[in-house]
Formats: sequence, structure tokens, C-alpha cells
Amino acid sequence: MSDFDYDLFVIGGGSGGVRAARWSAMAGAKVGLCEEYRYGGTCVIRGCVPKKLMVFASSFSEAAEDAEGFGWTMSARSFDWNWFISKKDSEIDRLEEIYAKNLEAAGVEIRKARGVLKDPHTVELSTGDVVTAKHILVATGGAPFAPEVPGVEHTISSNEIFHLKEQPKRMLIVGGGYIACEFAGIMNGLGTKVTQFYRGAQILRGFDDEVRGHIAEEMRKKGIDLHVGRDVMSIEKVEGGLKVKCTDGTFSEHDVILYATGRKPLTAGMGLEELGVKLDRNGAIEVDQFSQTAVPSIFAVGDVTDRVNLTPVAIREGMAFAETVFKANPTPVDHALIPTAVFTQPEIGTIGLSQEEAREDHEIEVYRSTFRPMFHAFADRDQRMLMKLIVDKPTQKVLGVHIVGPAAGEMIQMVGIAVKMGATKQDFDRTMAVHPTAAEELVTMRDPVPG
Ligand code: NDP
Repeated sequence: MSDFDYDLFVIGGGSGGVRAARWSAMAGAKVGLCEEYRYGGTCVIRGCVPKKLMVFASSFSEAAEDAEGFGWTMSARSFDWNWFISKKDSEIDRLEEIYAKNLEAAGVEIRKARGVLKDPHTVELSTGDVVTAKHILVATGGAPFAPEVPGVEHTISSNEIFHLKEQPKRMLIVGGGYIACEFAGIMNGLGTKVTQFYRGAQILRGFDDEVRGHIAEEMRKKGIDLHVGRDVMSIEKVEGGLKVKCTDGTFSEHDVILYATGRKPLTAGMGLEELGVKLDRNGAIEVDQFSQTAVPSIFAVGDVTDRVNLTPVAIREGMAFAETVFKANPTPVDHALIPTAVFTQPEIGTIGLSQEEAREDHEIEVYRSTFRPMFHAFADRDQRMLMKLIVDKPTQKVLGVHIVGPAAGEMIQMVGIAVKMGATKQDFDRTMAVHPTAAEELVTMRDPVPG
């Protein structure tokens, strides 16, 4: 009989924490979990899920235009922001309930409270309860970060965008990462006049350069007023809006300003460092390949560790933790070759090395295809698709695949299997094309780009 209240106590009910709790409980552990806000975490409550619903909602404006290119007459159309937000909220409530039910069904004791570590086996809850556990798992995720610009208190983050009382007519989005670019497309598609500022030379730093250039051009074609090399100096509340002084000396005015300038791990005030848990410069918990911290009884998974901040990665880390600790099967998470999508409009799907990264350590061949998909050509839409394969010349192994265009997220999931298996360019070549699709271009690129 254990001296502790629980075999495992999890702090945080997001993707990583919930999965770890359920899998550990299903492996026979006595598990407790506390969550101060809502079950499902960033992904379900104010991230991937509501974002994707907004992507869907925003795509109908273009779909309606394209329908006319196929002979349909579309009657007057408008978007009802409040109707959509309220339906989206009901859907999120439903999903949150499922998360809580799944935890309970697995036998996890859930507590609506904030947890703070008191010693390597003790958590104090905001309800005043104190619980002890043989193992503690920190899965508190991250929160939006905004720089200290004068007037930043007048702006919102991605947390608030899902609950705005009305749809802004003019919106400024600051940042050039995943969230900024996705919301630029969403709000533009919903009919808001979107301006986007990115401080650097090109958006989506870290992605393949050609992908970055291609998506920036497509976003501009859709009407997003994207400015690179421009940032906010100060923000002032004025009659009827927010006035922005820009770093290049210009001024602009907007109804709402969204800061999407990154996220920071939620570790402050949790008592971690006091116990000897090591944090990096960014406040992220340092862990080994088994998600174990410097204090052996304390583990951490998901965004709070700032490894790869994606839901499926947090879920894998949670499962690997349960496997390691409660099934006596040490399981590291493989963080290499993770396929990912950015739900810009058009979408980006990518896996592996960019051309710039690949050429640092490899002699490479690049295969590229840009074309106007049949759908857009017929609908007279000026939108091009980009597909790239980065191939290691001596071994012919495919090191990276990059797609910009409709359904790129769906495609990269499948191509990801081949790349993860170590597919060569010849494996792609001997795969029969599926015709007529856009994806068939992936297996029909014959000649590398000269030079
Ligand atoms: P990102 O790290 O992707 O982007 C942050 C952006 O803000 C960058 O363009 C960065 O510029 C800029 N920035 C950072 N600091 C400042 C500053 N002080 N002033 C001005 N600009 C600044 O973060 P996001 O918030 O967009 O997303 C967080 C994470 O969430 C992502 O990294 C991703 O892992 C995950 N996510 C994944 C999604 C998906 O899978 N589709 C969707 C949404 C989020 P610079 O590049 O110059 O540093």
C-alpha cells in the first residue's frame, strides 16, 4: 500500500496532461488531475479546434465566389459573427464535457483547482486541499506573450479573439508566425479588413524560403495588407479606434489589434525552481527524453517543456510518459520528422528539412512544381499551388516535402508516413498517380530544378 494519496498527480488538463492521466489510470495507476480553467486546454478551448472552425467559416466567402465560376448564381450573403461564436461555444462546451467524461471513465479523480508544488511529492490546490503523489506530472502548457509596447494593454491575444463581442471592421495582426498568419486568413475571409505587420524580412521564419515567399504572395492576393519589416512603436486609443505609430514612421488606425508574437511556458509561481526543477531562459521546464525533470519524481510534457509545441506531440509525450512510468517500458518520444500544417489560406503542409536547412549538411536535388489547380483555373481564381521535394542526391532519400495549396494539411499527413519510412525519390516515382488530383504532382516531378 502506497504512502501517497495518488500514484500520479497531473497539473493541467490539456492535451498532454489528459492523455497521460488516462493512459496511466488505464495502466492501473491511481491518478488525480487538477485544472484551473477548462478541460481540453489550449487546443480544445482556445486553439486548434475553435481556430479550425473559424477557418471553415471563413472559407465560404471564397467558396461562394468560386461557385459563381462554376455557373451558380449566389444570392446576397453575409456572415453573422455572434451566431457563429455562440454555436462555436456550444461545440467547445460539448468537447470539454467529453474530455472530463473520458477522464472520469478512466478512473481519474478530477479537481477544478490550480496546483502549486510544495515538495517533490506534494501539490497544494487553490481549494486549500493538499495532495501527495509518488509521481507528479506538470502539463500546464503556455500562454500568449506580447512585448512591452506603449499601449499594448489596448490589444488582444489569441485567447480573446474567440470571444470578441463583434466582428472588427479593421484589424491589425502583429507577428509573422503560425497564429498571426492563420488569423490573418480567417479574419480576411470573414470580411474584416486585415493589416499584418511582421518585424523581419519574411513571414514564417524557419519554413522553407520558397514556401514563405509563395504564401506571402497568396495572402496579399487575397487582400491581406501584409507589411514585412514593420513593427508597432506605440498604440493610442483615439475616437473610433486604435492609432498605431509604426517603426517606419507611418501611422495606421484599426478597431482591434491582435498580438500573435509567440507563447511562453506557464511555469511562474508553481514552486518548480524552489524544488530544483530546472527551467530554461524562456521559463520552459527542462526534461530528458523520458520527460523527467531534474527532480526524479517530477515529469513534464507538452508546451510547458517548449520542445515542439503541437497538440499531437504533447499527446505522444503524455502516452510515452505513461508507458515509461506505469508500464515499465521506457519510451522516448521521437521528435524527428514531424509533419505539420499551417492553416493559412491557402494551407501549408510541411515535413522534414527546408531547402536552406538541407543544403547545410547534404548535397541536394530540389524538385519543384508550381501550378494553378484545375479547380481554380476553371473558377478563374488567381491562386497557385507550390510543391517541393528536397532530396539527398547520393542516397535519393526524400529529406523534406513542402506543399502550399488546398488540402496541404491532409496531404502532408499521408506523405509524412512515406518520409518517416525513409522513402526515396524513386519510391515516389514508382507510385502511380491519382488522377485528376493536385496531389499527383508529388509523384510526377521528373527533373530536378537546374543548379
Ligand atoms: P510563433 O513562434 O510561430 O511566431 C511568433 C511570431 O511573433 C514570429 O513571427 C516572431 O518573429 C514574432 N515576434 C516574437 N517576438 C516579437 C516581438 N517582441 N515583437 C514583434 N514580433 C515578435 O508563435 P505563435 O504565437 O504564432 O504560435 C505559437 C506556437 O503555437 C507555434 O510555434 C506553434 O508551435 C503552435 N501553433 C501551431 C499551429 C498549427 O499547428 N497549425 C497553429 C497555431 C499555433 P520572429 O520570427 O522574427 O522571431
